[in-house]
Amino acid sequence: MISINGLSKHFGKLEVLKDINLHVEKGKVIVVVGPSGSGKTTLLRCLNLLEIPTNGELLIKDQKVDFSNQVTKKQITSFRKLTGMVFQNYNLFPHKTALENVMEGPVTVKREDKLTSKRKAEQLLAKVGMADKVDFYPYQLSGGQQQRVGIARALAMEPEVMLFDEPTSALDPELVGEVLKVMKEVATEGMTMIIVTHEMKFAQEVADEVIFMDGGYIVEKGDPGTIFTVPKEERTKRFLQLIQ
Ligand code: ADP
Ligand code: MG
Repeated sequence: MISINGLSKHFGKLEVLKDINLHVEKGKVIVVVGPSGSGKTTLLRCLNLLEIPTNGELLIKDQKVDFSNQVTKKQITSFRKLTGMVFQNYNLFPHKTALENVMEGPVTVKREDKLTSKRKAEQLLAKVGMADKVDFYPYQLSGGQQQRVGIARALAMEPEVMLFDEPTSALDPELVGEVLKVMKEVATEGMTMIIVTHEMKFAQEVADEVIFMDGGYIVEKGDPGTIFTVPKEERTKRFLQLIQ
């Protein structure tokens, strides 16, 4: 489903991602952990071409981009439809209701007719427990509710892969659970997911594979049972001690 080969990303002279190689099968849940500045967000942004990698190759489903060549606008548009992104700060349109936020992508990008996308958006909002809040604006919703709308909005594009960048780290502690619960449901339905998070208990329960990043490298990867209990690398051990 996803194949990342020799991916690197520079910001000027700063090399933020270094020779990233990763293969993810359909339906798998990958959790990415690592210290601040290790390149986690940049990796997710490279996966939907919000950042264009400097070198390497990226394959999702049947679309391949080779970054040693110039990437065209058409390639970017088409590739971006493969992934849905959920951001730390929700990024909802403030002047649109929950329903309008979820309908926006399908109507403007996919040219879906309004009635169809409205019906789908209502179903998705019901799925994330927001059926009674479809006409609310973001400012009328709690952080947890806004993030659940954010998840519904990403799902509305029917992506092949869902990308989550610290989706609960801006939330008050009592609101974290409701968002993780929705993410678990999405995982159970067979969605391929790459999740940057510090929620280790969630990672233990949901991840098929945990990846530890540091300094732009994938330092270590493995199943959560192994990584969290008997990490091989010194850097992984140190990081886990700090956050536990
Ligand atoms: P993480 O999400 O793991 O905290 P990031 O991917 O956000 O890490 O950042 C990795 C490194 O790349 C950091 O040193 C950060 O300052 C740098 N960086 C991220 N985005 C940019 C940018 N647009 N321009 C320049 N440097 C950036
Ligand atoms: Mg980040």
